[in-house]
Amino acid sequence: MSNQTAPDKPDTPERTDFIRDIVAADVEAGRYDTIVTRFPPEPNGHLHLGHAKSIWLNYGISQEFGGVFHLRFDDTNPTKEEQEYIDAIEADVRWLGVDWGEHLYYASDYFERLYEWAVHLIEAGKAYVDDLSGDEIRQHRGTLTEPGKDSPHRDRSVEENLDLFRRMRAGEFPDGGPVLRAKIDMASPNINMRDPILYRIVHASHPRTGDAWCIYPTYDFAHGQSDAIEGITHSICTLEFENHRPLYDWLIGNLPVPSVPHQYEFARLNFTYTVLSKRFLKRLVDEGRVRGWDDPRMPTIAGVRRRGYPAEGVRDLVTEVGVSKRDSTVELGQLEHAVRAVLNRVAPRRMAVLNPLKVVITNYPEGTVDEIDAINNPEDESAGTRKVPFSRELWIEHDDFMEDPPRKFFRLAPGREVRLRYAYFITCDEVIKDAAGEVVELRCSYDPETRGGDAPDGRRPKATLHWVSAQHAVCAEVRLYGPLFVRPDPGADGDLLDDLDPESEKILTECYLEPAAAETPVGETIQFERLGYFCADPDSEPGRPVFDRTVTLKDTWAKLQRQGKHK
Ligand code: ATP
Ligand code: MG
Repeated sequence: MSNQTAPDKPDTPERTDFIRDIVAADVEAGRYDTIVTRFPPEPNGHLHLGHAKSIWLNYGISQEFGGVFHLRFDDTNPTKEEQEYIDAIEADVRWLGVDWGEHLYYASDYFERLYEWAVHLIEAGKAYVDDLSGDEIRQHRGTLTEPGKDSPHRDRSVEENLDLFRRMRAGEFPDGGPVLRAKIDMASPNINMRDPILYRIVHASHPRTGDAWCIYPTYDFAHGQSDAIEGITHSICTLEFENHRPLYDWLIGNLPVPSVPHQYEFARLNFTYTVLSKRFLKRLVDEGRVRGWDDPRMPTIAGVRRRGYPAEGVRDLVTEVGVSKRDSTVELGQLEHAVRAVLNRVAPRRMAVLNPLKVVITNYPEGTVDEIDAINNPEDESAGTRKVPFSRELWIEHDDFMEDPPRKFFRLAPGREVRLRYAYFITCDEVIKDAAGEVVELRCSYDPETRGGDAPDGRRPKATLHWVSAQHAVCAEVRLYGPLFVRPDPGADGDLLDDLDPESEKILTECYLEPAAAETPVGETIQFERLGYFCADPDSEPGRPVFDRTVTLKDTWAKLQRQGKHK
């Protein structure tokens, strides 16, 4: 067994990217006293791994440049937003290792100011109330090749607009009634500039402002202004907002804002076999296709946490992937690699048998229990050792035995000797079968001279097996997870749901754990020796642990791909 210790941190050079270069140049030129960044989630679902990238980028920049990081909820759509999501998002961001200190904000705290600024635009002749229906507005908008058409209400007087807008706020109109639009240019080649909607009527209770408002600003109207209010210097977002930038700049340019944020766009994070879209993930939850937002197969922060991914692994991955202007898709295997690298350093080793086969050691005295020393983590000497009970009846892995082994199978077989990890050498003397001819038990003998795993005569078995003492074993449920989708590009040929893998969760109900493994606190990840990393699931009950497989020990991706199982 090699005993190299991994370095404390992956040895990555200082990374930079085009956004950090821009910030560095701004700092160099003395353009700002303090760099201020933010992560602005809409609380309409749980965060996913794409958000982790955005969070770590924004937070990282604030830290590296001695700046400030804000967490701001862009809570402008009361029909989709819930307090539950706000709480979950805070927990997720904190779990990633981010500390926003006192800088927690809500766009809804700015509703009064945004309203005043809408009035300011009306007074300047730069916004108007439109009575056209949603459909009519869409029809008037034109297309990429055709200019839009002016609304018949576009040239209302300032007084009339002010009066109507006040009445919108006062609740005189039903949902779907008049909207407030910016008066920009219906012929603009950028459709976002064709008199976008700034306010709409929504009679719905807001998680924070309750029933104080029945008009709500659109995301486009709230977003840039919220950044300006908070003094955000670099408004970093994903590429789909690139052609909204002229609108944001127009609004900022036409309002008496206290500061001028600049927007920079980067490419979204995507993974193979994965869909990162709150809306789609919500559908999986609502339709009961997964166990919930925190299902271990979900690419949500809550999901990967329940699955046992360490936050450090997620951070390492998003750092490794870097920041670019070009969309790309990261191999899911790269995420697993980052997770495995961290767990290899920190996860305690335990023994567990997932597919049990009984072994009776016929020459071992009945009623005797031997406490065997086992190393907790060969990568971390400070993790120490533990005692593992050994007795006459054991469980081993069914796959570790073959009655008629092919040439390259070195594990247990009739007449063959193997080493039991940390314990003794055993030899298989007899195979017991049931009426159907299935192997149900092995009768073996042990060599008392080999305690600890070495023979005085120096002989070395070709295989070392893990095992669990039957008398001491704790029966557990173990859930094996594969990717949610059968193809790397889900939805490419049709409905995403058709590409869900019905076998992405496999439940084993009769697994045996050594006592120390059964004591793992919920949420902690350990290594089951030779099998992979597993995390104690919140479904665990006293005496009945449940474990989720976090990740296998080796990269199974390359292999699966070779076999054509995951094309
Ligand atoms: P989704 O498209 O999954 O619904 P969203 O972009 O609508 O996500 P928001 O709450 O608006 O969700 O996102 C907050 C921030 O996270 C935004 O600045 C957005 O650009 C960023 N973000 C969202 N998805 C990704 C991703 N896949 N990669 C990187 N950043 C992302
Ligand atoms: Mg969005």
